[in-house]
Parts: sequence; C-alpha cells; structure tokens
Amino acid sequence: MTDSRLKNIVIVGGGSAGWMAAAALAKTLGRECTIRLIESEEIGTVGVGESTVPHLQAFNQALEIDEAEFVRQVRGTFKLGIEFLDWGRVGDRYFHTFGPIGHDYGPLPFHQYWLKLFLSGKADDIGAYSLHSVAALRGRFMTSATDVPVNSPLHCVAHAYQFDAGLYARYLRNYSEARGVQRTEGRVVDVKLRGTDGFIEAVALEGGETISGDLFVDCSGFRGLLIEHALHTGYDDWTQWLPCDRALAVPSEKVGPATPYTRSTARAAGWQWRIPLQHRTGNGYVYSSKYISDDEVHQTLMSNLDGRALAEPRILKFTTGRRRKFWNRNCVAIGLASGFMEPLEATSIYLIQSGIGRLINLMPDRNFSPVLIDRYNKQAAFEFERIRDFLILHYFATERRDTPFWQYCGNMQIPEQLADNIRLFRDSGRFFRDADEMFALPSWVQVMMGQRFVPTRYHPAVDLIPEQEVVELVASVRNVIARCVEAMPMHEQFIARYCQAVAA
Ligand SMILES: Cc1cc2nc3c(=O)[nH]c(=O)nc-3n(C[C@H](O)[C@H](O)[C@H](O)COP(=O)(O)OP(=O)(O)OC[C@H]3O[C@@H](n4cnc5c(N)ncnc54)[C@H](O)[C@@H]3O)c2cc1C
Repeated sequence: MTDSRLKNIVIVGGGSAGWMAAAALAKTLGRECTIRLIESEEIGTVGVGESTVPHLQAFNQALEIDEAEFVRQVRGTFKLGIEFLDWGRVGDRYFHTFGPIGHDYGPLPFHQYWLKLFLSGKADDIGAYSLHSVAALRGRFMTSATDVPVNSPLHCVAHAYQFDAGLYARYLRNYSEARGVQRTEGRVVDVKLRGTDGFIEAVALEGGETISGDLFVDCSGFRGLLIEHALHTGYDDWTQWLPCDRALAVPSEKVGPATPYTRSTARAAGWQWRIPLQHRTGNGYVYSSKYISDDEVHQTLMSNLDGRALAEPRILKFTTGRRRKFWNRNCVAIGLASGFMEPLEATSIYLIQSGIGRLINLMPDRNFSPVLIDRYNKQAAFEFERIRDFLILHYFATERRDTPFWQYCGNMQIPEQLADNIRLFRDSGRFFRDADEMFALPSWVQVMMGQRFVPTRYHPAVDLIPEQEVVELVASVRNVIARCVEAMPMHEQFIARYCQAVAA
C-alpha cells in the first residue's frame, strides 16, 4: 500500500493566524510532517487584534503554555467582558461579560425569575446579577479560585486576555521554531497550480526559490493570496448587515489602572474601542466610510484618548464577509484570509483557533477526501454565520436614530434566523442555542437587555413559585455576588502578583 500521509505543510503568512497554526500543527503533527512558514517582514502584519474571548485559554493549554508566563510575555491584562457605552441610546451603559447570569433555579434559567421582578419594577438591570459585570464595574479580577466550594461563583471565573498581538505572534514563533517549524523570510510572488486538478503545487518567492507542499494553509491576511488570488474561491460580502468597512487605530499612553474589560463606545458612524494593556492602551474607531469621512473619524478618535498618542494613527480597510469556501482543493484559509466580521466582539482570534482545531480534526491525507472538505466548509460557514448574526444584533437593537448611520442600522433588513431569535426573545425572554454556536444564552440576554430589546412577558412556569420565593432567590444572588466581588483583588494588584511584565 502506498503511503498517502501528508509530508509537507506550507503556511503562508506570519501574523497571529500563521503562527497560531504553526504552533498547533507542530504540537500535534510535528514528528509526522515538515511544517514551513513563509512570511514577509516587508509586507508586515495587520498588527491589531488585542482583545480576545475565553476560548484562547484552551488553545494555550493545549500547547501547554503557562498562563502567567504567557501574560507576562505579551504584556497582557485580563478581560471579563466588554463595556458598551451609548449603544441602545446615548448615555446607556451595559456590560456583556463571559460568565453566567445568577444561577439557574429549578427548570428555568435565572433571568426568567429576574424578568418577572424587573417587569414590575422590583429588580435592577440584569448586570447587577452577573458576578463578572459587577467585578468589571469595580475593577476587580481574579482567575478561578480552587480553594472555594465548587458552587461558589469564584470557582469558575471566565476570563479572556487583552494583549499585544505582535508579541503574541513573536511568542508563538519562538514556540513553533523550537518544535521544528522552518521559517522562510520572503515574498510569495507566484502560486503554481497542478494542471490536472488545479491543486496548489508550490509557491514561488521573489528571488526564485519555490516551496512545494501537500497542504497549504493560507494565512496571508486580507489578501487571500492562495485562496482567492490563485484559486478564485469567491467572497460573500456582508456589508449590508455589518456596514463598517474601515478602522483607524492608534496606541496611547497608559493612564490609570488597566480595566479588566474592553470598552466599546458607539459613535456617529460606528464605534470606538479601548483595550488596556500593561504598558499602553489600544484604541480604534471602526466606521462606515459611506457615512463619515476619514478626517472626522481622525478628529473624534484623537480627541477621545485617555492619554497621549504613541504613534501616528493607521487606517485599515476591510470588507465584512467570508470566503465562499474556507477549504478549497488543498488550501485551507485561516485568519483574515478566510473572512472578517469586524472586531466588535473580538471573535477573529477565536475563529483562527476554531479553524485550526477543525483542520486538525479533519486532517486529510494526500487523497484530500471531499467528505472532509465538505464537513470543514459546512461547520465553518455555520460558525461564521451565527457570529455574524450576533454582531448584527448590536447594530440593529438600538433606539438611536441620531445619525444617518444609525438610521440605516435600526431599519435594515436582517437575516431571517436573527429576526426569529429576536421575536422569540421579545416575546418572553427565550433563546435556543443552535448546535455549538459560539454565543450562548447569557450573551444574548445581556446584549438584548442592554440594548433595550425587553421581553413583554416571562416564562409562565415562574408563576408556579410563590413571588416571595422569587424575590428571595433574586436578592440572594445579589448578596452572594457582593460578597464574592469584595473578596476579589483589584485587577492591577492581581497582575502585579501573578504576571507583571518586565518593563521594556
Ligand atoms: C481593525 C481591526 C481590529 C481587530 N481587533 C481584533 C480584536 O480585538 N480581537 C480579535 O480577535 N481580532 C481582531 N482583529 C482581527 C485580527 O487582527 C486578526 O484576526 C489576526 O491578527 C490575524 O491576522 P492574520 O494573521 O490573518 O493576518 P495578518 O496579520 O495580515 O498577517 C498576514 C501575514 O501574511 C504575510 N503575507 C502577506 N502577503 C504575503 C506574501 N505575498 N508573501 C509572504 N508573506 C505574505 C504577511 O507578511 C503577514 O505575515 C482585528 C482586525 C482589524 C482589521
């Protein structure tokens, strides 16, 4: 029998996507395959992508990376969620955090009991019943405590990281090279396709070298050098629902303690991010060029920084959407080469991670069974579309009509599945998670409630419980949260003890 195992994997691109793929493939297949990564310092990376979601912990754990060492190296901070300012109405504030809301009771999720009281004016906003939101508001943070009872909310604090994306790629480069990944510096100028079936045979570098492979991982960023330029896979444009197409990004001096959350402030034609790291703050205004000029964006961003700008602001242009196929022939696109949905919920690095996990699960041999490719594409499309809908929700669930941009967003025709989710939630606060879509019930509840999509009634089973019992349940959740938050250190204290970066 001939040996059809993959022998050579070629990764094009050395941004977060390229080095995450290299690290994970080296860890899982290092002894089986030669892994080569080609990157061009002259072209550089997108250089943003500083806010993440909790799933990255699992990625790092699979690589056996020590958390404290990692956070130190990437000058990271911890993230409990995102603070949204001015989204539902100007002046509104809410948190979308990672943890649960209250704790479930009997057959129903906590928010149904809370909703009964809230609708009759007897309970505060939903954030008051989330440990993560209250801790974020007070600038407190700790990772999960193992020395508390398992039913204590402190036993399972869900956190993500805010970090310097360039340092993360560098960290993973060291990791990958130590495990045998061969790095080639150079610019890919040509892609050679096999005459018989159009599979990629090799890539040619400026200077004449050609690098052949069995499997090519396209991590070349927005360019989509292999998946699009060479294979003409096609792109589904989602600008009609996610209308922002540019970002102006600038780092600024750190002023005051780093918050354990990312901030997103809605602006006239988009929104502004603020991501605190140990040594500086990342900022950017994501906007629709149809509704605002670059100059206006520049002015708004620069006059809304906490501290002095540390560099000239940089414009990044993009088209929200996804590649029609993520895996085409012997090429798998990961990272920005596969699509981009804008950074509102910091989902891009997560999508890199899940693309890599899916590729490892469906790793082909040199026969490239179409069954594996089809499954990969179906799952990735599902994941992208469910996240897309959750992002659209933020733009659509608003009472803002103060600028043409918000008028457009509030009146746009949304995808039917999202419309259906909204109808169900507004009816009686219910939501069903489809298969393993990324965002679960607490996320949908926080964003819907935070942006004023309030249900008209609650689940009828709540009335089977005496109202006094509901009042006590809701009050007890608040008390437990208050005690837990009191026991948490300030975010900066926690960093100082656990993972303080060495000054540059
Ligand atoms: C404004 C903005 C904000 C973002 N914020 C977040 C966030 O908060 N959280 C998050 O999860 N994600 C965020 N992202 C997304 C995140 O930045 C990316 O998902 C991540 O950085 C991965 O990028 P990449 O590696 O796919 O592409 P890139 O960083 O663009 O890397 C592409 C690589 O390909 C190489 N390359 C390209 N062409 C060639 C060639 N011809 N020859 C050789 N090499 C080549 C480049 O040199 C580079 O090494 C943001 C993106 C944008 C645009």
